[in-house]
Amino acid sequence: MIQQEPLSQGKNATIFNSILDTIGNTPLVRLNKVTQKVRGNILAKVEYFNPGNSVKDRMAIRMIEEAERSGVLKPGGTIIESTSGNTGMGIAIASAVKGYKCIFTMADKQSQEKINILRSVGAEVVVCPTNVSPEDPRSYYSMARKFNAEIPNSFYTNQYDNMANSLAHYETTGPEIWEQTGGSVTHYVACVGTGGTLCGAAQFLREKNKNISVIGIDTYGSVFKKYKETGIFDENEIYPYLTEGFGEDILPKNVNFNIIDSFIKVTDKDAALMARRLSKEEGLFVGWSSGSVVHGALEYAETHMKDTDTMVVLLPDHGTRYIHKIYSDNWMKDHGFLDARMKITAQDIILNRKTDKHITTIQKSNTVAFAISLFNKEGFSQIPVMDNGQIVGSITETKLLNKFINNPEIKKLTVGEIMDPPFQFVGLNTTVDVLASLINKDTKALLVRDIKEDIYIITEHDILLALM
Ligand code: PMP
Repeated sequence: MIQQEPLSQGKNATIFNSILDTIGNTPLVRLNKVTQKVRGNILAKVEYFNPGNSVKDRMAIRMIEEAERSGVLKPGGTIIESTSGNTGMGIAIASAVKGYKCIFTMADKQSQEKINILRSVGAEVVVCPTNVSPEDPRSYYSMARKFNAEIPNSFYTNQYDNMANSLAHYETTGPEIWEQTGGSVTHYVACVGTGGTLCGAAQFLREKNKNISVIGIDTYGSVFKKYKETGIFDENEIYPYLTEGFGEDILPKNVNFNIIDSFIKVTDKDAALMARRLSKEEGLFVGWSSGSVVHGALEYAETHMKDTDTMVVLLPDHGTRYIHKIYSDNWMKDHGFLDARMKITAQDIILNRKTDKHITTIQKSNTVAFAISLFNKEGFSQIPVMDNGQIVGSITETKLLNKFINNPEIKKLTVGEIMDPPFQFVGLNTTVDVLASLINKDTKALLVRDIKEDIYIITEHDILLALM
């Protein structure tokens, strides 16, 4: 085999010796749209730029290097972890490059996609039953311990209590934030799972400036916030939640409660909606917990930030891991995160109409006096105008009233002389949220054509009824 010289790592080097050298140095990006209600700068540390698409690449390589240094992990060894998520990805990438085997034990509730992703980067995945207690020998915790005990030269990373986790952020994330903001950072906000991301970087930042505020994002169903505020580990705070990667039912060693000023809890729904906004409004296709951190950060910023403050929020991972969850409209609706009423379409509105479903029109050549009598007789507020079987315009009661008050003589004119442009046509499948957004002070009604080419009108009143 030809032995290759490592390439230069000088200041201007553009070639990395392995993918592991691309970990870190992620961009800091200003949030411009979702921050409109708050003062000061809100800057996002976008961690999906790491090769495994998450912040956890930083600590995965650090835990491995620490184990190598201390001799716990020797060449050709096996790394064991009980995770399905981002840490697994970071460990698998590092293991591929460094030549370690890796075994991940994973609960069978996890999606096949996650299993396939980890297998794609060379990990062996052992699927274990979800519905057994952690002490059960079949659980993924027990299986990981069993592998660690049985396999020679194996290393169980244990990200919760392994302090190399926080150290990775003390050594990389913290200094990057300090440098990228030119030392102007005043607030640092991150989700707390193992605690490494928040506490490790915060430790570095506090050494630079002891006044920096450190805010942890927690979720409903996790113990952190109450523990910080009362010192009580309350088991009643523990219940299932949907957001992934943070909030805990344990107190990991990497969570340094002394360095955290306060916690904010964010609901699964608020987090999902904010992640979708970050994707649509800022072009940041981020994971679910990024929605949690930004929602919580903005809540805090609204009451605590000054114009001169600079808050850094850390966005942990990429949206691709959640395309069948928060980025699926059907999943969102099934979980009550998108208003179910918003599923109603133009077609539903016309089919559910109790009164005569057909449209009433007026001819362009009819007089305005006739139009006024039609409004009175039928109780309509708007009517499409026809000419030679085509819709050519529209008249609305309120606009006609205004014109009539200014000039009573208009009643002698024809409808064609005073009409407004035709109402807009929308598709049968247009949902009620879109219909509502199209209605405004100038557009009081919309038109829809069914498959038989029959035309129906949808008014402000119809939309209101649909939403009741
Ligand atoms: N969000 C996601 C998606 C994660 O994978 C993690 C890591 N578990 C976190 C947030 C929290 O980071 P940490 O474990 O460093 O507290």
